[in-house]
Amino acid sequence: MVNKLQVGVLALQGDFAEHIEMLSNFNVDVHKIKNKSQLEKLDGLIIPGGESTTIKKLIDRYDFENAIKEKINQGMSLWGTCAGLICIANKLTEKDPMPMGIIDVEVSRNWFGRQVDSFETNIEFKGIEENIKAVFIRAPIVTKVKNNVEILSKLTDGTIVAVKQDKILGTSFHPEISGSSKVHEFFINLTSS
Ligand code: GLN
Repeated sequence: MVNKLQVGVLALQGDFAEHIEMLSNFNVDVHKIKNKSQLEKLDGLIIPGGESTTIKKLIDRYDFENAIKEKINQGMSLWGTCAGLICIANKLTEKDPMPMGIIDVEVSRNWFGRQVDSFETNIEFKGIEENIKAVFIRAPIVTKVKNNVEILSKLTDGTIVAVKQDKILGTSFHPEISGSSKVHEFFINLTSS
């Protein structure tokens, strides 16, 4: 029998419960991650949306950063959604928080500003056949990518909203509340690759 994939959701702040719910549709073991010793068993980790300054503060308080990086070096996949993408970026256009520098992109927070804090739109996503509904909530966007980063999705105006580097995935929207589990399926396939 093939061992089941072990997928964790960082449960420090934000909408981790919705990711856990989505993952329960798949044949994987799901873990709510609250301390770094739980990372040991994981094949993949999701950092959810929420408030990036708070999530990063808690990542620092519970000493997660080096442990996450060590696991990535051992082949663990990682997916940052929204605030999670902010936390894993190489660089931000803002001063706070200090990102972890895991994916070679520059990210800009709260891109869509006050006029359209939140919106939904259908987008193309490389590797997923049908268009998917993307929910943006005070979302960041990717403003620069290095050559080693693949762009998976753009809005019609060219704004980059999904990126991948090796087994690291970043999305500026929230697939966990879109009603479709296609991006979770994409991440699980990435995790098992
Ligand atoms: N605007 C939030 C931040 O900068 C992110 C929003 C979200 O995760 N939905 O942290």
